[in-house]
Amino acid sequence: MVTFKKPEEVAKMRRAGKVVADVHYAVRERIRAGVNTLSLGEEADRILELSSAGASFRGQRLRGVRTPFPSSICVSINEEVVHGIPSRDRVLQEGDIVSVDAGAIIDGYHGDAACTYPVGEISPKRAELLRVTREALYIGIREAVAGRTIGDIGYAIEKWVLGNGHGLVREYSGHGIGRKLHEAPQVPNYGHPRSGMTIKPGMTFCIEPMVMNGGEKIESAENGWTVVTSDKSDAAHFEHTLLITEAGAEILTPWE
Ligand code: MG
Repeated sequence: MVTFKKPEEVAKMRRAGKVVADVHYAVRERIRAGVNTLSLGEEADRILELSSAGASFRGQRLRGVRTPFPSSICVSINEEVVHGIPSRDRVLQEGDIVSVDAGAIIDGYHGDAACTYPVGEISPKRAELLRVTREALYIGIREAVAGRTIGDIGYAIEKWVLGNGHGLVREYSGHGIGRKLHEAPQVPNYGHPRSGMTIKPGMTFCIEPMVMNGGEKIESAENGWTVVTSDKSDAAHFEHTLLITEAGAEILTPWE
């Protein structure tokens, strides 16, 4: 069921989204060669605690995987698409790209946002992947206007990504968000114009294109959680939580 948020609910989501952005600022500051990804998770925890916010991701369950997600952020390196688990054994290297997905809960309402960061100097090919994926997010946001449809968003993203010669992860979609981290509607990164649900003021949802440099096949890593590209090509992931207003989409997770 799609929920339309009242002003008092929007206020809570704005605060949650601001905390998510704060987590991104803090984690981004720490990203450099030699840093392990567990320390990024600990930094995220520190910001959540300072903000009296809960962690949306910790404890999430995945069908078929015994262990709940153990961290407040996902940290996915290079060919890892999403759901990378922070670990002392994963150390960032110069030239890596690292996707950070963060969630926060304030007064029962969630915010959720992702960004892929460069570690030091990255190759032109990786820089291009980041540029195309980030732009895919904003192209999607431009379609997130009352009166247009969920299909319009997916169509615009898909056209842009494929037009730039990249692959799209189709198994994961954006999603409604509010009291639950994942609510209706699903917001796929592909689709047909003027199809699907009509976008209306009061809706809150995430747009989150996941793009790869190679083919479109993905698989699960051994831990059951982490999603990797089958051909080991690089992947990037950008996401914002949005509120639809009469005037357009308001970004609730301003991590830029
Ligand atoms: Mg999300």
